[in-house]
Amino acid sequence: MNRGTLFVLSAPSGTGKTTLIRSMMEGGLSSFGGLVFSVSHTTRKARVGEVDGRDYHFVDHPTFERMIEENKFLEWAEVHNQYKGTSYEEVLPRLEKGIDVLVDIDVQGGEQVLRRYPDSVSIFIMPPSYRDLESRLIQRGLDDPDEIRRRLDVSHSEIERYRLYQYVIVNDDLERASHVLAAIILERRHRLDRMDETVSRVLGAFPGKGRKREDSGPVSPTDAPAMASGLGTKAGAGENGYGKE
Ligand code: ADP
Ligand code: 5GP
Repeated sequence: MNRGTLFVLSAPSGTGKTTLIRSMMEGGLSSFGGLVFSVSHTTRKARVGEVDGRDYHFVDHPTFERMIEENKFLEWAEVHNQYKGTSYEEVLPRLEKGIDVLVDIDVQGGEQVLRRYPDSVSIFIMPPSYRDLESRLIQRGLDDPDEIRRRLDVSHSEIERYRLYQYVIVNDDLERASHVLAAIILERRHRLDRMDETVSRVLGAFPGKGRKREDSGPVSPTDAPAMASGLGTKAGAGENGYGKE
């Protein structure tokens, strides 16, 4: 079975990452299935409307520190004075099942993940300007003025690390930005290394029988049915990575 892909998204707080991901899913990507959001652990208190297990796993400091000691985290960092971390449990079993996983983490966490999993696809989301970032944080109404100031203070140094990432999206127009995000995810899913099983499955249902051809030399008209049949035996083994979890 093809392994799923790990998508790493980072942005300064208030850029619109959560809104963008939601817009992308509503814009049609959910119909493709097979994309799951990793739910982080945090010591931050839940905001009004946040649900434990959906928005975060909200835990206390001793629990988070015990998880660090027990090596439960794929990455963790202190973000805006609170611990945040992605557990292995949220990510690895899904990738192994061929499901794509999207992690929304800060640049410190992004750096750790990209070092350990260089095959990840990394995307940095930018605000169109400092003014937009400030007004989005204020207008969102979730953080008090001191917290907003803290988040704005670190935003410049976060953006300076954008070169760690493979893709950059400026979240100016929400619809345009969400199309770009969907395009990156879909492009990755349609690469040859992710499509082998789908092709095999289709070919496997073709009529014809014969041996599997191991070399990649020229194909004669008489070889073609034999190849189809050979690939077909391989195809029965797995899914194509598009199944919903
Ligand atoms: P993040 O998850 O990056 O911290 P949010 O998704 O909570 O940010 O968005 C912060 C605020 O910005 C929200 O009030 C949201 O409605 C607004 N927002 C997000 N994207 C855009 C956009 N493209 N244009 C205008 N406002 C936006
Ligand atoms: P918030 O407190 O607004 O939910 O999140 C603020 C920041 O924490 C965002 O930049 C977000 O990407 C980051 N964050 C959320 N979960 C994690 C995580 O598991 N690890 C790391 N390193 N950062 C996270």
